[in-house]
Amino acid sequence: MATLLLGRCNPYGAETGGPKRVLGGLYGPRSAETPEMNLPDSVAQGEWPCTQPAQVRCRAVCRCGHKGQLMQLCSWHDDDTWTSELVAGEFRRVHGTVRARGHYEEFLSRQAGFCPPCAWPAPYAELQKEIQGWQAEMHRLYVLAKWDSPRVRQLQTMVEDAGKMMDLARFQGIIHNCPLTLVAVS
Ligand SMILES: [Zn+2]
Ligand SMILES: [Zn+2]
Ligand SMILES: [Zn+2]
Repeated sequence: MATLLLGRCNPYGAETGGPKRVLGGLYGPRSAETPEMNLPDSVAQGEWPCTQPAQVRCRAVCRCGHKGQLMQLCSWHDDDTWTSELVAGEFRRVHGTVRARGHYEEFLSRQAGFCPPCAWPAPYAELQKEIQGWQAEMHRLYVLAKWDSPRVRQLQTMVEDAGKMMDLARFQGIIHNCPLTLVAVS
């Protein structure tokens, strides 16, 4: 049986609280909204309803060696169950236990997603923001019916060139989808 000295189950990371620490901080500040995590609303709003003691220390890692913060999660435990049984013509509440998966197993079983630093390595994360800025400027110029201006042509070239840089980085594997896995830490 694992040690119970770890405190409460806390998937936000051992050091700091808050939804932005889901999966040990590898997710960004909006991680609580991360749809593929299927977090309950109470978690997305910053409450973690788990009262189980933590049994596993672990962190999310990618193949390239990016590491999230340490998390401590609950593991298999006994949950109380109450059932009714007819005993000598009377219903009685019968106490039992059932083995329940913990949050460690929960996180293991769901696709943890891809490593953000691998999907957006520097300087491409910055470049992506710039592209979005240029596209927004182009859109403003279109709205003003200035689609034939030299600035629009310049912006188009910049967006195309940046797109080629991103494609090349993807082709070279600099930008890539790196699955996250959860590993136990002793
Ligand atoms: Zn990677
Ligand atoms: Zn838990
Ligand atoms: Zn990575």
